[in-house]
Amino acid sequence: MTLKTLPVIALLVSGAWAQDGPCMADAMLDVSDSPGAGPAYPKPSVEASCEGDQLVVRSNGIPHYEFVQVTPNPLVERDNEFRVPARPQLADEKTPIPLLGSLGFAVNGMAIFGPNEGGVPVEEQFGDPIFNSIMDACMGHTAQEYHYHALVQKCLSTGVRPGEPSPILGFGFDGIPIRGPWGCVDADCSRVVRFRSSWEQVREPHQDAWDAYDYVEKEGPEYLDMCNGHAGPDGDYHYHATETWPYILGCYSGTPMPQARPGAPRPNLTQGQRPPAAARPPAARRPRGGGPGRTPRPSQSEVTAAAEALGLASDDVAKALRAEPGNLKPVNLAASARALGVEQGSLTEALGRQQRPRRQRPNLAPPEEPECFFRCGQSEEDAVGCTLTPDHKVLCFRPCDDNKCG
Ligand SMILES: [Zn+2]
Ligand SMILES: [Zn+2]
Repeated sequence: MTLKTLPVIALLVSGAWAQDGPCMADAMLDVSDSPGAGPAYPKPSVEASCEGDQLVVRSNGIPHYEFVQVTPNPLVERDNEFRVPARPQLADEKTPIPLLGSLGFAVNGMAIFGPNEGGVPVEEQFGDPIFNSIMDACMGHTAQEYHYHALVQKCLSTGVRPGEPSPILGFGFDGIPIRGPWGCVDADCSRVVRFRSSWEQVREPHQDAWDAYDYVEKEGPEYLDMCNGHAGPDGDYHYHATETWPYILGCYSGTPMPQARPGAPRPNLTQGQRPPAAARPPAARRPRGGGPGRTPRPSQSEVTAAAEALGLASDDVAKALRAEPGNLKPVNLAASARALGVEQGSLTEALGRQQRPRRQRPNLAPPEEPECFFRCGQSEEDAVGCTLTPDHKVLCFRPCDDNKCG
């Protein structure tokens, strides 16, 4: 048996599509001649190779285009290493993306985050950063690192003419490529369409963005699945970046690598907070796609116990906890507690879970004269500002009171 036949066998065994063919390292950008972020920053670097069955990408976290600051966090060089399956496969079941932190990387080596921000507009809230206008023109911004919440094709590719299918703009941690918004609807490419998300906005996404959008399956070749992907005309499954929520990925259709960022900090899975091995569900049943921002999905028995303890209807509790069958939204206990009108601590206790010690945030105290970074709205009256701290939390949030519009 040759290595090349393995994906075909996997296809036959699981009935799922598997990426065949060469490793996709060539999809990564050559940034060696790019202008870079600006004279004040190191030159960008991106290296991609295939090591065994993994696509390995290393970058220094500096974008290949001019950096325009929209949040106060500085752009700093860092050692990025991403490892994803070189020949990804569709999983039997889709899995949620993390509520916080990275879920993939773009072809310029910058991290891709999910569609919600952490702690914006105020702590414990998770608004839509695009709706809240805290992104640069390439839909990136800095917090701990420069990262994207949406992808803009012209920032990540050159030489693509209008009406042409989009190239690969990035990869999920499941190794599945993320293409730009345009693509063919049939094998002859008789028509190129702009692919569209099937998620609908049901309320204002200013605060708890995941509660503001619902997936509603739609007819039509341009509509994508819950994860924002589809199988193209030649059967290859990929995601598309879209104009609307979830912008990049709504969930993982493949199996994300547990160690997609070796050595990266995992702020919500630190030693003291992790349950002992014996208390953890077996690996096969544990929800995958880990990394920062992951809260375990509530089980049916936890939902029932919580509903009883809180004196609420089980259906309401399941809905608030996003624990209904088929719901793949990342769990967010703060938002769930708000939806149920209870304290987060009471909900955690009702679920039979241990309260997490609050993380030390020594830098959260606002300075005496907080520097307010902001982008102005339509008029000075409706303009707002926000300041992200290095741990992705808001330091201040106040109306603009002068003309320092960025
Ligand atoms: Zn962000
Ligand atoms: Zn497509």
